[in-house]
Formats: sequence, structure tokens, C-alpha cells
Amino acid sequence: MKVTLLRHTFDADYMAALAAKVCYSSQNVEEISLDEESKKKLLKRVIKSGHHSVIEHIGFTFAIEGISRVATHQLVRHRLASYSQQSHRYTKITRKSFVVPPEIEKNSEALKLYNEALDNNLELYNKLIEMGIKKEDARFVIPSGVSSNIVVTMNARELIHFFRLRCCIRAQWEIRDAAIEMLKLAKKHAPIIFENAGPACVTGRCPEEKPCENIPEIRKFFKNL
Ligand SMILES: Cc1cc2nc3c(=O)[nH]c(=O)nc-3n(C[C@H](O)[C@H](O)[C@H](O)COP(=O)(O)OP(=O)(O)OC[C@H]3O[C@@H](n4cnc5c(N)ncnc54)[C@H](O)[C@@H]3O)c2cc1C
Repeated sequence: MKVTLLRHTFDADYMAALAAKVCYSSQNVEEISLDEESKKKLLKRVIKSGHHSVIEHIGFTFAIEGISRVATHQLVRHRLASYSQQSHRYTKITRKSFVVPPEIEKNSEALKLYNEALDNNLELYNKLIEMGIKKEDARFVIPSGVSSNIVVTMNARELIHFFRLRCCIRAQWEIRDAAIEMLKLAKKHAPIIFENAGPACVTGRCPEEKPCENIPEIRKFFKNL
């Protein structure tokens, strides 16, 4: 899987701080200026206080390539986002188009069975197409490990929510890998906004019944991302 940051709001932290400043300033927007220190202070204060509408002005667009339909099905459950996904109505599925889960990859017997199943299904898919069946119907025999490419746009508020759910160790491995890559890229361009982003345990108590034992390590990992 490859995650690329295609576009983001220019000077994201400043933009969000400016939006916050407008709320408390009697100056016109053009007259407002924020130095590094006041930007940092104001933004941290509004985020801590839950005044999160200011970070909705900040947008990030990612391309995720080579991600399975299993994972994109979970991704698109996040509704406050925009998506454009490669269509298997228009593109042909090939043998290279499949994600192999690491647990299967490292188990030679499981890998053999997995590959046999893919070969069989792909043979059937190709046969159906040769018979004149449209790709949109032939694809019904394709397993959900088939990969695709997707472009996703979220604002920073939704991203923080997404990271909270999907960077957690309890999230499925593939969407978790994607979320961590997205967080790495977003944090580079908006270090204040995403300073404490990550699973719930980064900033507070784990909401799960049985929290992970290595929470200090998890916190360290996300702080240093
Ligand atoms: C570990 C894990 C396991 C999961 N297991 C399952 C499962 O077994 N089955 C399953 O179906 N799903 C499952 N999900 C998906 C989950 O239920 C959510 O659909 C998904 O995480 C999207 O999150 P969301 O609804 O909070 O947020 P988003 O769609 O990202 O929306 C963000 C927030 O906006 C608000 N919001 C958005 N739309 C509405 C609305 N219509 N009404 C009110 N408020 C709204 C909510 O506050 C929401 O939290 C799982 C998710 C995780 C992380």
C-alpha cells in the first residue's frame, strides 16, 4: 500500500489559528497577525477547550494505492469525507491486484491455499469476460482482498476522529497502517493541530474494556511520529 498526500491547506496551523483569532478579535481579518508564539498558544488553547470548528477549515487530500476492498469498505464508513475510488466496472482485475495479509504471507500452507483460491477465482473471472459478461458482473466472483486506489479528502477535525478510531491497535491492520501513514503526513504539515492525534489512549483513558498493557509505548510512538 502506498499513501501520498496530494494537497493540503497551505500553512494549516496558521490558518486554523487565524480562524480562532477572528472569533475573539475586533480587528478586520486583514489587520490580524499572529506571531509563532501566539499562533501556537491560541491554537493549543482552542483545541484543548473543544472549540474544534476552527480546524474544519483545514483540508487534506490523500491518495491510497494498493489497498484492499476490505479496508476501503471500512474507510468509506467515515461520512464526513469525500472519496473517489478506482472502479472495477471500468478497470480489469489482474493477478497483481490482490493484497496478501501478513498473517497469510508468513504461513506457507495458508499462503498456498490463498494463492490457489485467487488463481481459481481469477480464472473464472477471465472466463466470464471471454463469454461476453461485463466486468461489472464478472467481478462478483472476485474476493474482497482485491486492491484498488482511492482518493480521500477529510478536514482536520474528521481526521483527528478517524485517527482516534483507526490508529488504535483494535482497528483492522490494513486500515490502521493507512491511518498511521496519513497521520505521519498530516503531522508534518500541521504539527500543532495533530500534536496529540492518534488512538484515544494518546491523550486519555482507553475506552476499551481491556486496555493494552503497553500504553506508555503507544503514547511514545504517536508523540514521535
Ligand atoms: C474497531 C472498530 C470496529 C468496528 N466494527 C464494526 C462492525 O462490526 N460493524 C459495523 O457496521 N461497523 C463497525 N465499525 C464502524 C463504526 O461503527 C463506524 O461506522 C465507523 O468507525 C465510522 O465512524 P463514525 O460513525 O464515528 O464517524 P464518521 O462517519 O467519521 O463521522 C464523524 C462523527 O460525526 C458524527 N456523525 C456523522 N454522521 C452522523 C449521523 N448521521 N448522525 C449523528 N452523528 C453523525 C458522529 O459524531 C461521528 O462520530 C467499526 C469501527 C472500528 C473503529
